[in-house]
Amino acid sequence: MEEIENTFEQFELNRQLLNAVADAGYTIPTPIQQKTIPLTLQGHDVLGIAQTGTGKTAAYLLPILMKVKYAQGKLPRCLIFAPTRELVIQIDKAVGELAKYTDIRHVALYGGLGPKTQIEAIQAGVDIIVSTPGRFMDLYLRGEIGVKDIKVMILDEADKMMDMGFMPQIRSILEVIPRKRQNLLFSATFPEKVEKLSYEFLEFPTRIEVSPQATTAETVKQRMFAVPNMQTKINILAYLFKTGEIQKTIIFTRSKDVADKVFDALKGPVIAKGDIRVIHANKGQNTRINSMDAFREGDVKVLISTDVAARGIDIQNVSHVINFDVPLIYEDYVHRIGRTGRANNIGEAITFLTIAEEYHIKKIEKIIRMEIPRELIPLDVEIAPTPFDENQAMLLEIDNQRKKEDPTFKGAFHEKKHPRPIVKKKAGSAKSGSGSSSKGSSSSSKKYGFSKSNKGSKR
Ligand code: AMP
Repeated sequence: MEEIENTFEQFELNRQLLNAVADAGYTIPTPIQQKTIPLTLQGHDVLGIAQTGTGKTAAYLLPILMKVKYAQGKLPRCLIFAPTRELVIQIDKAVGELAKYTDIRHVALYGGLGPKTQIEAIQAGVDIIVSTPGRFMDLYLRGEIGVKDIKVMILDEADKMMDMGFMPQIRSILEVIPRKRQNLLFSATFPEKVEKLSYEFLEFPTRIEVSPQATTAETVKQRMFAVPNMQTKINILAYLFKTGEIQKTIIFTRSKDVADKVFDALKGPVIAKGDIRVIHANKGQNTRINSMDAFREGDVKVLISTDVAARGIDIQNVSHVINFDVPLIYEDYVHRIGRTGRANNIGEAITFLTIAEEYHIKKIEKIIRMEIPRELIPLDVEIAPTPFDENQAMLLEIDNQRKKEDPTFKGAFHEKKHPRPIVKKKAGSAKSGSGSSSKGSSSSSKKYGFSKSNKGSKR
């Protein structure tokens, strides 16, 4: 009369793994786990289309750990590749957690630091290697990794790996490791290039798709504010924090500069200094890892990150994802909002967009096959005036977008100079103008001034 229908007990996993699963707090297998675990245990090649947040890591790790079982010999038997060091570290950590009641040895290999410790770990004997393709190939070519015992190879976030130009390294790896092996490939999206890779890499794979391509996680509530400029984005953010509407939050920005600006604007006046961190490529690797750990542990409430720095971050229970600006790589929208609403938690994604970003959000809405609901800017939020330079930059961007769509379009920017913005007095009414996409710029108020940095500012 035991209920074994939908628990981890239904899989042929050993007690050590089941105990680790229980310790991790997993009770019900997620859909990708339901499908992947039995197939992988049976030895099939698997093509999994699944976003982060679906439980895909445990979906491939559990059956693999079951096969590797215990420490044996010196040479690795399983290779797991991921595109970034953050993701490599995170997967390796998951291996550690799920294999904690076994003696399986695992190591994370990634660049950005000297290879000495990594080489020592390999030499001591290792069962599972989690690596970026580049660092693996480096160490292999130095003769540090014996590959003859490799039985399983996994490519995680294959789409990202291809976007980041890892294909040549993956090809070289496939040339040197034993042909007879089991292969698993996971990807959040399934564009043509990943399909091609899957033909090269997988043998008669079973395809598993847990949600249609690039659809957004159903547990994420999405909304959007159309705003005239960056300062107003900051004002709304400050408002959302002050009213307690958002708590554990990741704020995504397009660039390092914007990340730093948002950080400077929020730190202190809005969010206590110790509660907010910023990570991007200019920050040292250790700083990034420390910040992520602090955020994961709940010691830091707000993390500001660029898309590149955020790749592969696994952080649970994020209440909100803020798209401070709209990502230009449209799939990143899906990746960004996948950070919230993980594993059955309800999350919320809030996007800010200027008129110059309308173009991109339309494309994103096409990809996710839904319209993101728009909300009015709350009355208490000050609508800041748009600085002249920001206005010009937006108009130029809009011109370029139009040219892209219509190569015969000559450009309105130089003809019209910059159209005068429509002046609205009340915050509540101003935003309806700001959200309009039909005019060049209907954005800010008369006084061109950027409250913080602009020298011409009146404030
Ligand atoms: P992933 O998609 O692999 O990045 O996993 C997303 C998050 O869900 C991770 O933090 C996992 O620890 C967690 N998770 C994975 N499987 C389950 C499960 N069956 N139940 C609850 N949480 C899970």
